[in-house]
Amino acid sequence: MERDLSSMVPVGTITSITRLHMLCPICGKPDWCYASAYISRRTGRKVVYFGCMRVQNSPQFVNGTDGQTYKYIGLSKDGQSGKYVPAAHRDCNAAEREVTKLVPVGIIDPLPDEEQDRRNRYILKKLPLEKSHREYLKSKGWTDEAIDWLGVKTWPADDWIRRKYPHRFRDYIPTRSKIANWVEKECGGCLGWYGSYLKPWKGQEYWYVAGHSGLCIPMPSIDGYIGALRNRRDYQDVDLKLRLDNGVLTFDDPSNGKGYVDWSGVHHGDGSVIRELNIDSKVINVDGKYRTIASWYEDAAARERGELRNSLKKGVRCLNRISVYGLEFRSNPMWIVTEGELKAALTAWFYRCPVVSLPGVSNVQLIANAATLTKAAQLGMKLMAVAYDMDKVSNVNVLQMEKKLIDTLRMFHVPVVTAEWDGTRQKGIDDAVSHGVRVSFHAPD
Ligand SMILES: [Zn+2]
Repeated sequence: MERDLSSMVPVGTITSITRLHMLCPICGKPDWCYASAYISRRTGRKVVYFGCMRVQNSPQFVNGTDGQTYKYIGLSKDGQSGKYVPAAHRDCNAAEREVTKLVPVGIIDPLPDEEQDRRNRYILKKLPLEKSHREYLKSKGWTDEAIDWLGVKTWPADDWIRRKYPHRFRDYIPTRSKIANWVEKECGGCLGWYGSYLKPWKGQEYWYVAGHSGLCIPMPSIDGYIGALRNRRDYQDVDLKLRLDNGVLTFDDPSNGKGYVDWSGVHHGDGSVIRELNIDSKVINVDGKYRTIASWYEDAAARERGELRNSLKKGVRCLNRISVYGLEFRSNPMWIVTEGELKAALTAWFYRCPVVSLPGVSNVQLIANAATLTKAAQLGMKLMAVAYDMDKVSNVNVLQMEKKLIDTLRMFHVPVVTAEWDGTRQKGIDDAVSHGVRVSFHAPD
C-alpha cells in the first residue's frame, strides 16, 4: 500500500479495488472489496481504509497480504464488509473519529416534484427522438407504440461539443442554452430545477443545463409526477475526432490502435471498455451508462475538508429515487420491482402492470419504506413481484440484495413473489417479456 492511494480514494465514497488495480490487502482477491477514506478528527488528516467483503468474524488484527498489519475499525453500515486501516497508521484507533457527515455549504434545495414535473413535461414535449435513438430502442425489444407511450426523447450534447464537431450532431435538436431558456422563460424559472446551473461566460453568467448526450428518459414518481429525467448515454459527446468507418464511429486511440464508440461505451482497439480518457491532460469520465440529469458536480477539494459543495453554481443535487412506470395499469393488483428505468418501463408496457425501478439493486429502502408502501397500497398494490436480473444465480451480491428486499417487504407485511424465467438467454425481465418468454411467479423460500 505504499502507492499514494490517498490521492485516488475520495473521502466518504467507496472506490473498488478493481478500479485501483490492486488486490484487497485483507483477503488478497482482486474484486468485491473497496477502499475508502475518512478525516481524522484528531489530526484533520485523511486516512485511507479498506472494506473487505470476504473477511470472516471481523478479527481485530489481520496480517495483510501486502506485509502490513491491519486493524479492524468496524463493520460497514450495510454489515457487508469489515473495515481495516494499516495498524501502523497514527490515526488507526479512530472508528469514532470517522467523518460520516459532510457539512453542506451553499446547497440549493430542489423544487418539489410538482414543479420539476411542469418543467420536465414542457421539455419532453419540445425535444425530438432522433432516428438512431429510436432504432437503438427497437433493437432492445421496444415497439414504436411503447416508445411513444413512455415519451423517451433525445438529450443534446453540450453546446460547445456540437460547435466543435458540427458534422456529428443534428441541427434540429435544441441546444442546451435553448432548453435552459425555455425553463427560465416558460416554466417558472431554472433555480431549483434538477437540470440547470449558472455557467460563467465573459464576465457574466447564464443558465445552462447538465447531462450527457443520449436518451432522455422520464422518471415518474409514485404520485405520477415526472420528478426527474435520466440519461442513457450514447457516448457521442466524447471530445474525440470520430469518423465513420464501415458504420462504426472510430478514433485514433494513442494507446491501442483504432478505438471505437458505440452504445456500450468508448472502447480501445481490442474491444475493452475505457472508463477514463486522458486527452490533452484532461480526464474525461466515460464510465457508466445511466445518469440522472442533475446539475451536480461535487467539489472534491471541499470534500477533503469535510464539506459538501457543488462546483456548479446554483446547481442542484438529485438524490437516488425510484420511478414507477405504468400507473395507468394499476387495476392490476400485482406490482413488479426491478432495477433500471428502461427495463421497468418496457416491462410495465408489455405486462400491463405498475413496475417500480430501483436505481440499483442495493437501494432497497427506497421502495421498502412505510410511506412508499402505504401509497402503493392506496393505489391498489396487493402483491410485489421481485424481478432482479437472472444473473443473480451467479452474482452473490444480486442474490443477497434480492433476499434483503424480500425480507424487508415482508417486514411491512407486503405479500412477495419472485419472477423467474429462463435466464440463459434473457438476462432481464424486459428481455423476457419482449421476447415472449414465459415468466412465472414463485413464493420465495
Ligand atoms: Zn477483501
